Amino acid sequence: MPGYDFRKPRLYLEARFNQGESVVLDRAAANYLRNVLRLKDGDPILVFNGHDGEWQGTLAASGKRALAVELQEQTRPQPPAADLHYLFAPIKHARLDYMVQKAVELGASRLQPVLTRHTQTSRVNLDRMRANAIEAAEQCGILAVPEIAKPVELKAMLAHALAERLIIFCDEEAEIADPVAALAQVRNQPTALVPIDAAKPMALAVLIGPEGGFSEDERAALLKLPNVLRLALGPRVLRADTAAVAALTLVQAVLGDWIAPSQ
Ligand code: SAH
Repeated sequence: MPGYDFRKPRLYLEARFNQGESVVLDRAAANYLRNVLRLKDGDPILVFNGHDGEWQGTLAASGKRALAVELQEQTRPQPPAADLHYLFAPIKHARLDYMVQKAVELGASRLQPVLTRHTQTSRVNLDRMRANAIEAAEQCGILAVPEIAKPVELKAMLAHALAERLIIFCDEEAEIADPVAALAQVRNQPTALVPIDAAKPMALAVLIGPEGGFSEDERAALLKLPNVLRLALGPRVLRADTAAVAALTLVQAVLGDWIAPSQ
């Protein structure tokens, strides 16, 4: 694992970074560093903005009450962007918070709420999702914050998007079948489902349904598409947030960025 420094606090900032410049913190960030972490002027801190890699800086007062980070040096370059969309039917709050954080830790580059027939909560708090995504990135040393998309209807999404992307459809009604073999087949015969550009990460999407599962007509619409791979996640029905972790793990391990970089 590259040299992650988990001793220093890490903060996501919406600002561009330039050597030697200072980034003034907003009141919430200043309060958190001063009063929660009890940091003092001159203390080191790691910051990232999703574009310029990770930088080390030191805290400094800025004016009477504000706080700034004086940027010193880049400690880690910005890693290449992933291309893994996590498509999910929104579930209830606490489990949704968990599911968002795990999707970020597992490398999702875009979080797309999808409204399906049995989705029980159609209202999604995007600000809350973004705050959870940022918190997961700060805690785990992830240097990109996934895009948080507005909810879309499943059928509309399938009709207008994702044609160039492999949609890994986690179907609770799929016959038990080896998920690793199913995903490995894509790796061995990529053109069968989606065009692959060796120079870029494979364009992937993982689709997880709601507490009530997918409806029959949704299943039929999905299975008709040439760029859909139906995936079984074992002989038991998993809770949606469990299925998210299981599916994203399998996809990253067989097709994604858990494969050691080619020498
Ligand atoms: N009623 C439970 C489970 C609903 S299934 C709950 O309250 O969460 C939720 C979603 O998880 C499904 O639509 C599917 O996308 C995925 N899933 C769960 N078990 C699965 C399995 N064995 N195989 C494939 N996908 C599964």
